[in-house]
Amino acid sequence: MQMKKTLWKPSTCQCEVEYEWDRDSSEATRTHVITRVNDKNCQVSHPKFIVGEKLEGSSYHNWHKEENRKAEEKKKVELQAKPIIFTDTEHRLWKFDNGKLEQV
Ligand SMILES: [Zn+2]
Repeated sequence: MQMKKTLWKPSTCQCEVEYEWDRDSSEATRTHVITRVNDKNCQVSHPKFIVGEKLEGSSYHNWHKEENRKAEEKKKVELQAKPIIFTDTEHRLWKFDNGKLEQV
């Protein structure tokens, strides 16, 4: 049994969760054991992790799927809120804001 540690830092908050897993067992069956939690005043509603908690194959994958979805959503909201400004090959300045493209 070869244990490997992973430090997970979600892109949606400042938390850090360290977990240990057996690199010899397959991805579908391996168990991930939480070894360290640092929830820095978390404002995001991901599950509360507890040191010693075991995440079996499917609950581990559901957790990651859910976290990826949240990160994608956050990125989308940020992109919509922020106008993109760029120049084209003829050095004209364009602004893409809230789905609209206009020359500045
Ligand atoms: Zn968090």
